[in-house]
Amino acid sequence: MYKAPRGTTDILPADQPYWRYVLDAAERLCRRYGYQRIDTPLFEDAGLFNRSIGAGTDIVEKETYSFDDRSGDRITLKPESTAAVCRAYLEHGMHALAQPVKLYYISPSFRYERPQAGRYRQFHQWGFEAIGESDPTVDAEAVSLAWDLYKEVGITGLTVLLNSIGDAACRPGYIQALVAYYRDHVNEVCGDCKVRLEKNPLRLLDCKVPQDQPIIAAAPKTSEYLCDPCKAHFAATRSYLDALGVPYTIEHKLVRGLDYYTRTVFEVVPLEKTGQQTAVGAGGRYDGLIEALDGKPTPGIGFAAGIERIVLNLKAQGVAVPNPNQPQVYIAHQGGDPARQQAVRLSQRLRDADVNTWLGFGDRSLKAQLRHANNMGVTYTVMIGENEVQTREVLLKTMATGADEHIMLEQAAFRIAHKLTGGV
Ligand code: AMP
Repeated sequence: MYKAPRGTTDILPADQPYWRYVLDAAERLCRRYGYQRIDTPLFEDAGLFNRSIGAGTDIVEKETYSFDDRSGDRITLKPESTAAVCRAYLEHGMHALAQPVKLYYISPSFRYERPQAGRYRQFHQWGFEAIGESDPTVDAEAVSLAWDLYKEVGITGLTVLLNSIGDAACRPGYIQALVAYYRDHVNEVCGDCKVRLEKNPLRLLDCKVPQDQPIIAAAPKTSEYLCDPCKAHFAATRSYLDALGVPYTIEHKLVRGLDYYTRTVFEVVPLEKTGQQTAVGAGGRYDGLIEALDGKPTPGIGFAAGIERIVLNLKAQGVAVPNPNQPQVYIAHQGGDPARQQAVRLSQRLRDADVNTWLGFGDRSLKAQLRHANNMGVTYTVMIGENEVQTREVLLKTMATGADEHIMLEQAAFRIAHKLTGGV
């Protein structure tokens, strides 16, 4: 028997209401913030990710699904969507539009990771990018939009971690100080950090090994090395976040290890850390990215949230979500073809009136059909038996109270649709 490939999941009907609920909220918020949807291909030229995420990173070196297609072109299933959106921005000349161009996406992402709870090989991200503007209000707005999603869907117990990692002018000075500090502690740090010190010193601050934590805590802080423009940008971003009422904590350890990231970095995390995968979403400013893709220097900022992790949180917190696919009316019938004919006609009228309608099939007894209707959780069951065929009526049963009443067949669809929308 085949099984879904390791690290992938089927999103079964029972889970779909959670997904619909989250995606509806995400799209609603994007509209409120002036973002337009973009969809990019599931795969891109492998070079795009080497250039953007970077050849020396774990994502590109160990986690991409890359292959040569039949004509020998090197292809990568996208491990994230920022690079693809920036590629589209350049390819379609969006720099000629009013800036910033605000784009959002909902897309599968693929990373060859070790699967565990909340970490998959195919997962889905909702994310957004505001490209072409460096004003700190855009940073504050990006953090606010990210934060609003969790608020909108009703997940509690989260906060925003915020930091500034400077820019090309001030970060080299910071990295120098960081490296000098770590050289003094090189015998105390874990093996991975010895490698990071040589290859990607900013990532030293990301280390999760307990023995390294005191060293990280006492390390030089990015915020102490910011140049004046970066300092002013960070202060302004914070003041707008205060104005927007978004709660955040400055986290000096928060960095992004890629050169194109600048200034604002942020994550949405649980207040109480549980397990390893803590971030439910992460974002940052990437003023160097478009240039790394051969565009003119163009600032940008974005955010991405894993939808699976949001759904896990909704379930863990017992958030009730509506199910738009829930059948509302069950039509039960007994009495041979005449009853069935009436039932079929009524089903069509109910569906025309936008009512989710389940038509009973086969020759099961009314009692069995009623049991089925009950299990389905419908609001109303319509019963059509021999008597009802004679009188051209239906028996309408309100499942919650057990009350029933006869109504004229001709009026049934209209009356039921009216009741379902709150009428009497
Ligand atoms: P990143 O692009 O690594 O900053 O990830 C952004 C967000 O995507 C994370 O905060 C997670 O919510 C989600 N995410 C990243 N990797 C995975 C994964 N392997 N499985 C599920 N969700 C993920």
